[in-house]
Amino acid sequence: MANIETLPLLLKQLSLPTMLQHWHSLESAQEESWRPGEYLAALCELEVNRRYQKRIARLTHEAKLPGGKLLATFDFTAAKSIKKSQLVALSENVGWVKQAHNLIIFGPSGVGKTHLAAAIATNLISLGIRALFTSTTALVQKLQEARRLYKLPEALAKLARIPLLILDDIGYVKKDEQETSVLFELIADRYENNSLIITANQPFSEWDSIFPDNMMAVAAIDRLIHHATIINITEHSYRKAHASQST
Ligand code: ADP
Ligand code: MG
Repeated sequence: MANIETLPLLLKQLSLPTMLQHWHSLESAQEESWRPGEYLAALCELEVNRRYQKRIARLTHEAKLPGGKLLATFDFTAAKSIKKSQLVALSENVGWVKQAHNLIIFGPSGVGKTHLAAAIATNLISLGIRALFTSTTALVQKLQEARRLYKLPEALAKLARIPLLILDDIGYVKKDEQETSVLFELIADRYENNSLIITANQPFSEWDSIFPDNMMAVAAIDRLIHHATIINITEHSYRKAHASQST
């Protein structure tokens, strides 16, 4: 029979820290005369749960989402132009991310585009999806810098390891031939490989102000909408309404 004294070392060797922490303290095992399999299952469950929690905490940290934006705190009665069931489905079903589909949320400033994008991403992260939230302007600047250093392919490859990228406020990108062609390259690179959530306060018809020329805008839009859900929020600014209510 194996020597029980060696168990802590064996658990360490097998990198099972939670089992190491709890194997001795599962008191009900003895009191309730658990069968060996039940005891082992209970320990494994603790280890698996701990790993899951750590992974979600790490993914949440890496995603850099704006804090506290949840579906639970979104007032759907103030946004009648969108369907709660559709947003809930997008946040509970990882299928669309696995299939590299996109989500594009349109609407004027202050209607909750960023809130919804962050809320959906938060839920998907809890289902194990790796995500990154970024302002489009900041990302375009980073990619532009990478291009200057001849490292754009590496930068795109790094982003390609993140299945869900949230580009907030694509319309704030200034038209500049050098800058915005990296945005097109990002979109082309992710097409049918990885997902994007994009928030925009300008309709597609005005995207020629984002890309260097019409052709590139059309090519970018084609790729984005080939597999995409498009949501239009048509209400007036929640932020503004809320601000005037509280004064
Ligand atoms: P947008 O990205 O469309 O400009 P935000 O998502 O930043 O708008 O929303 C502005 C503020 O109003 C945020 O603090 C957001 O949490 C809040 N907000 C907007 N719409 C709603 C809503 N329907 N219910 C609850 N909070 C909302
Ligand atoms: Mg926003």
